Amino acid sequence: MTCPVCDSETHVYDSRTKLDSVYRRRKCLSCDYKFTTIEIDRDFYENLIDLKDKFLCELNSDFQRVVDDAMERVRTGIKGVYGLQNGG
Ligand SMILES: [Zn+2]
Repeated sequence: MTCPVCDSETHVYDSRTKLDSVYRRRKCLSCDYKFTTIEIDRDFYENLIDLKDKFLCELNSDFQRVVDDAMERVRTGIKGVYGLQNGG
């Protein structure tokens, strides 16, 4: 694996297993940047991505509802202030 900072080669200097994953501490051979990678089961990863997509979809849906509600309140407020009818 290459360094995310300078793209040079890295080496693993520590490796630990936690539940179903493996954490590896890596260090860049060029700039000494240290970072951690996590090795997980592919099915678990893909399920995680599916969950994230569903969550974001739901979040966008909720956000759109909030925006629509706010816009309706603005429209209603403007009609109330100026005494306008629907469509005006
Ligand atoms: Zn580096």
